[in-house]
Amino acid sequence: MTDRTDRNDTCRRTTAPPNADDRFSVPLRGVAVDHATRCDHYDSDLDVVAIRFACCDCFYPCFRCHEALTDHDAERISPDRFDRPAVRCGVCGATLSVDAYLDCDDSCPDCGAAFNPGCRRHRDRYFAVGE
Ligand SMILES: [Zn+2]
Ligand SMILES: [Zn+2]
Ligand SMILES: [Zn+2]
Repeated sequence: MTDRTDRNDTCRRTTAPPNADDRFSVPLRGVAVDHATRCDHYDSDLDVVAIRFACCDCFYPCFRCHEALTDHDAERISPDRFDRPAVRCGVCGATLSVDAYLDCDDSCPDCGAAFNPGCRRHRDRYFAVGE
């Protein structure tokens, strides 16, 4: 884990299974997670999305957080669950279904916060798309 200067209002917290970070209304854990669910790995202004992993039934900011905190392979969300809440906006706390997330234009439909377009490009890491 690297040392970095916190932005003014950020408080970084690492939460490992079986615990969940009590700052959030959904089960969520990760490495050095801030209030907008940026993590130790993805830390730009746009990296505010957390994604649910089917294996843990829990949200993580990224697949590397899941890798760091668990000892199993990540299980992706299967297409029959794409209508369930699985993506959380770290700015407003709204949860989107996978379908809504994949259809959104790299911004939150609820609050308009910009999302990192790179996450959707790597969506096959998180969602079993096209299978
Ligand atoms: Zn898992
Ligand atoms: Zn991470
Ligand atoms: Zn939002």
